[in-house]
Amino acid sequence: MSQCNRRTFIVQLVAGSSALAFGRLSVADEAKKILTEDDAYAKSMGFRLDTTQVDQAKYPKHTVEQKCSECQLFSGEPGEPLGPCSFFGKRLVPVDGWCRNFKPNGAA
Ligand code: SF4
Repeated sequence: MSQCNRRTFIVQLVAGSSALAFGRLSVADEAKKILTEDDAYAKSMGFRLDTTQVDQAKYPKHTVEQKCSECQLFSGEPGEPLGPCSFFGKRLVPVDGWCRNFKPNGAA
């Protein structure tokens, strides 16, 4: 299993466990809310589950400090591995994710 696949699996496992713990959503429902790199729109935005996996040649302004947890459009709870992204219709993204619509916290 590659590093990226392992990370994806862990993120999905944590999301599924959280849903069961709170009893609000089934694992399948929660999994559908998680944005994947295979989603066509996410792909067009260069979305990656792990900011360290971003193609620097394609996105030369990207830095590894840019990640979903530092983005204005992320509204996850502190300590949670995933949180909603308003840019992607509140679908869940990992704290270490990234897309080319990254907007740093505190920027106008
Ligand atoms: S808009 Fe921000 S929070 Fe949403 S995926 Fe892109 S970098 Fe992450």
